[in-house]
Amino acid sequence: MNNPFNINEIDAFLRQLFPICRSLTGEGNRKTLKLIQKLIPIELKEIPSGKQVYDWTIPEEWNIRSAWVKNSKGEKIIDFTKFNVSVVSYSTPIHLKNTKFKDIEKHFHSLPETPNSIPYRTSYYNKTWGFCLTQNERNKIAPEEELEVFIDSSFNENGSMSYGELLIPGKSEREVLLSSYICHPSLANDSLSGVVGATFLAQHLLKQQPYYSYRVIFVPETIGAIAYLSQNPSLSQKTLLAFILTTMGGPGPLGYKQSFIHNHHLHHSIETILDNYDRNFKVYPFDIHGSDERQYSSPGFRIPSISITKDKYYEYSEYHTSADNLDYVKAEYIAKTLDVYLQIFKLIDKDRYYINLSPYGEVQLGKRNLYPQLGGTQLPSNAKDVSELDIILQVLFSSDGNTPLRVIADILKLPLQDLMPTVDKLVKEQLLALIK
Ligand code: ZN
Repeated sequence: MNNPFNINEIDAFLRQLFPICRSLTGEGNRKTLKLIQKLIPIELKEIPSGKQVYDWTIPEEWNIRSAWVKNSKGEKIIDFTKFNVSVVSYSTPIHLKNTKFKDIEKHFHSLPETPNSIPYRTSYYNKTWGFCLTQNERNKIAPEEELEVFIDSSFNENGSMSYGELLIPGKSEREVLLSSYICHPSLANDSLSGVVGATFLAQHLLKQQPYYSYRVIFVPETIGAIAYLSQNPSLSQKTLLAFILTTMGGPGPLGYKQSFIHNHHLHHSIETILDNYDRNFKVYPFDIHGSDERQYSSPGFRIPSISITKDKYYEYSEYHTSADNLDYVKAEYIAKTLDVYLQIFKLIDKDRYYINLSPYGEVQLGKRNLYPQLGGTQLPSNAKDVSELDIILQVLFSSDGNTPLRVIADILKLPLQDLMPTVDKLVKEQLLALIK
């Protein structure tokens, strides 16, 4: 297959964004969005700290300039400028001198089971401070050792939370939402691969003439998605589907997380597409843990949301550690997942949705000359012999606005074009309308 994505460009962008310290809010997020803006024309937006968004409140803006820990010899044993994951995100400022390690040990986080990796930790809604380090480094600090601890961070209640959005208008006003999250610091597969992937997908779509409109957003996870939905309450009516772009650049198998709709028509098609790329692709049924599909799929919105992954979050040992870096993630892996997305978009773009204009019970076909004259003779036909009546009944039954004609043709085991004369007839009878 001919992959249209430029691996060198993806690689360069990964390397540009990777070192930036991102969080729920702050300058790192703005810097990230501005770099995305150099590639695609996103609008940069801000929601003020303190604003209520459904059940949540936009937090104070957090920024960090420097942080380190020095041992008793004055050597820096932790340095934020080397690894930005080594400070707990949203840490309060602190400066302690001559403090025994054993007295502040609970502020230090490490992973005994993977002793060479620094864990990624956040404390967004509980004000505290903390450092993250490898277990091996931690083992070198004696309980009685006196440390100097410094975090130069700040909270601004007059700050804001930044996000970016781009609407790529298609011929239809119905939309496909591509959502990625910008809140993780230097972690490559979780978060960054999705941000980079969304940027290049958008760049590609901008050169196409898609039938559906594509809305591409870059928000902090959870609160950003909730805030975005609160700013765009009509989104769920016009959004056909959402794709959560994340963990799409690891060396492991391709996979997809299913939407909350059991047997959603796209699941089977996505599996057919994935099978062409990776015989060992993984299927992750929907569950309530995960990423922003939790928001888009919630009862108030119910947007079917799917993720195509390559080493899905939770599934790889580098997840949420400093080992989720650019040795682990490669531009070519991202390009592969992007190509899968393109194949899915090609399929979606051809889909047309009709709505039954007389949906309250079956319509009276006889008075419109759509029913055979002689009653009592109609038996359900076998698969080889589909009558026009079968097509009429199935098309009217299934045309709920969310089932594409392609799926109705599959149910009838007919090629799509065989449905079209009947569909046109039903449109003329004003029983059916194409959703534009
Ligand atoms: Zn994460």
